[in-house]
Amino acid sequence: MEKYKVGILGATGTVGQKFIMLLENHPWFDVAVLAASSNSAGKKFKYAVADKWAEDKKLPSKYEDLIVMDVEKDAKKIAGEVDFVFCALGCEKEKIKKIEEMYAMLECPVISNNSANRMIDDVPMIIPEINAHHMDIIPHQRIRLGTKKGFISVKSNCSIQCYVPAIHAAFENTVKDVLVCTYQAISGAGKTFKTWPEMVDNIIPYISGEEEKSEVEPLKIWGNIENGKIILNKNINITSQCVRVPVSNGHTAAVFVSFKNKITPDEFIKKLENFKVHEKSVGLPSSPKKFIHYFKEEDRPQIKLDRNLDNGMGVSVGRVREDTQYDLKFVCMSHNTVRGAAGGAILLAEMLCREGYIYK
Ligand code: NAP
Repeated sequence: MEKYKVGILGATGTVGQKFIMLLENHPWFDVAVLAASSNSAGKKFKYAVADKWAEDKKLPSKYEDLIVMDVEKDAKKIAGEVDFVFCALGCEKEKIKKIEEMYAMLECPVISNNSANRMIDDVPMIIPEINAHHMDIIPHQRIRLGTKKGFISVKSNCSIQCYVPAIHAAFENTVKDVLVCTYQAISGAGKTFKTWPEMVDNIIPYISGEEEKSEVEPLKIWGNIENGKIILNKNINITSQCVRVPVSNGHTAAVFVSFKNKITPDEFIKKLENFKVHEKSVGLPSSPKKFIHYFKEEDRPQIKLDRNLDNGMGVSVGRVREDTQYDLKFVCMSHNTVRGAAGGAILLAEMLCREGYIYK
């Protein structure tokens, strides 16, 4: 099979670098364009990332001498050279929103990590194992944009990608109230301990915009398509607190949840163990062998032991217990730059290719 040519917008950033590493030997996708801001444009990629390479492994040599393109000025050229782009830009929301729409209107599909277009009602926000059916909204979006091929699809915020799957296991019991506290890694802010030394031995009880996203994005994932729009599931109440912790990679969440049809811890554990992923997410190059890993050990999931399960695409859940105020409580965790960012976006793109929404 001839591979799809892909571009990475924001290639020099933390998530952009993760895309590069995950796509190095991808069976379907070939990275043809690396693009970033005008500060990096025109430089060989190895020089553009010289002082900000955050991956443990070295930059693969095939990308070292690629000349970084300018996300905005070179947009037409990039759109002409690739079959679709991954977007991992880190600038003002309004600017990202315009850039993503510009690429879609240049007939270049955009698979985005950014929040700028996430809550637009005809932009599908997809965790493939859960709401793959939201792909059906794409023809409606194409009508709005006046495109044949171009569209925007997004993955959700990184922090919800551990607790939404876990709660989804018991979705048929009708989720009512959710309280969630997240403990989020510094790579989620595009940082390492080298670039953010203040985070060593520290906790910061504020992540800008994160609590709003944690409370509303699950309602879109669990929403329904009606008259060409994704309507939020307003029957679920979610409240959250999000805290930055001194961890390099991996977001953890402590979750309390009540259902309309009460469920016991043992019943919930059974549902976690027998989780059925959406059929359209199965058998893709980045599909995890096992989506949800349930641990009965009291001290799991742990960041260091469990974040790389299934190549960072697995979600870990443990400490399932009865609660005094909610039906259940548990702890869950997933890798924020793999499952929560680049890996989740790659899995989404693979599904969109196989389903014919992205084509050459
Ligand atoms: P980052 O490390 O700060 O990287 C930002 C990227 O955007 C760089 O390539 C940068 O290029 C480019 N950029 C910045 N300003 C620009 C401008 N005005 N025009 C064009 N390009 C510009 O950010 P990140 O952590 O990778 O995050 C990227 C996006 O993904 C953010 O929206 C973030 O919220 C989202 N996200 C991150 C995570 C995570 O775990 N890190 C998870 C999910 C979603 P230069 O190097 O040339 O400046």
